[in-house]
Amino acid sequence: MPVSIMLDAGHGGRDPGAVYNGRQEKDDVLKLVLAIGEILQNSGIDVEYTRTTDIYETPFQKATEANEAGVDFFISIHRNSSPLANQYMGVESLIYNLSGIKYEMAENINAQLETVGFKDLGVKARPNLVVLRRTKMPAILVEVGFINSDSDNTLFDKNFNDIAQAIADGILDTLEEKGLWKPEGARNSSTASESGRTSSDADTSDSVSPADVSAKSDVGTLTNSGSVPDSPCTSDSAHMNPSDENTDSEFPNSSPSVTYSVQVGAFRNPAYARRLLNELTEMDFPARIDDSSQYDRVLVGQFDVLNDAAMMERRLKQSGYPTVIVSFSEEV
Ligand SMILES: [Zn+2]
Repeated sequence: MPVSIMLDAGHGGRDPGAVYNGRQEKDDVLKLVLAIGEILQNSGIDVEYTRTTDIYETPFQKATEANEAGVDFFISIHRNSSPLANQYMGVESLIYNLSGIKYEMAENINAQLETVGFKDLGVKARPNLVVLRRTKMPAILVEVGFINSDSDNTLFDKNFNDIAQAIADGILDTLEEKGLWKPEGARNSSTASESGRTSSDADTSDSVSPADVSAKSDVGTLTNSGSVPDSPCTSDSAHMNPSDENTDSEFPNSSPSVTYSVQVGAFRNPAYARRLLNELTEMDFPARIDDSSQYDRVLVGQFDVLNDAAMMERRLKQSGYPTVIVSFSEEV
């Protein structure tokens, strides 16, 4: 039976994901997912998609789809976003914990993307992400560069086909190492192609049997270190669980520029602010609480460009929230 993989293009529909000068994460990742899927399909993989068009589903719905389809792997494609434009660049992959075949696959995907020209920001454990936690099969969320990095975007656009191929190769290399997949006629290499595409992952000593593919319950060490603060693409609550994000990184003091957020509420009672925060987070909004004044203000997103904040405001209004855009000068 062929290996089955569900590919997920992050966000979609009324949820644009991270945005930068009008460029929307949901569009970049859909295009990329379809390209990856075509390569995988031509390689004999059974490919399914959470979406092939511009529609919205919650991360929970996406995980449920994968579970109901009973696929062997779930790969979610996103683009990252940092608080300030051109602050960071590079790819990172997120997994439930740092163990198992998903860890090796994530490492391989990153290594392949590095050969295309991306900086490798590493593989990180994110046990709170819905699509990683709720899926029953090995699942990986790949942040394919920062959408608010001009150099990452240039790479994304110029090397688009190579990027799709790199992600597919990272997946296929891992499957091949584990004996779950063999290159067919379409793939150039011969049967024992140890020397070829991957170089950084040659550790085949701890072999994983196909049965381990569906193991998810092993809880490894959760390290979350790294030079880049955890501030992934801004419109996926999956990433933005406020309780486990480094919120202190959201307001760097170094830059005098102005940023914009959408304020959804201001409360004297912190419990009310907390409740609204939870509600917004449940609905995928990247919400946070700002308690620096006498009221606890519930804010969504942080944008360099006013128009991007306006897009988020529209989304909130559609969900029935009263909103106001607020600006922050960074000279705090
Ligand atoms: Zn995203």
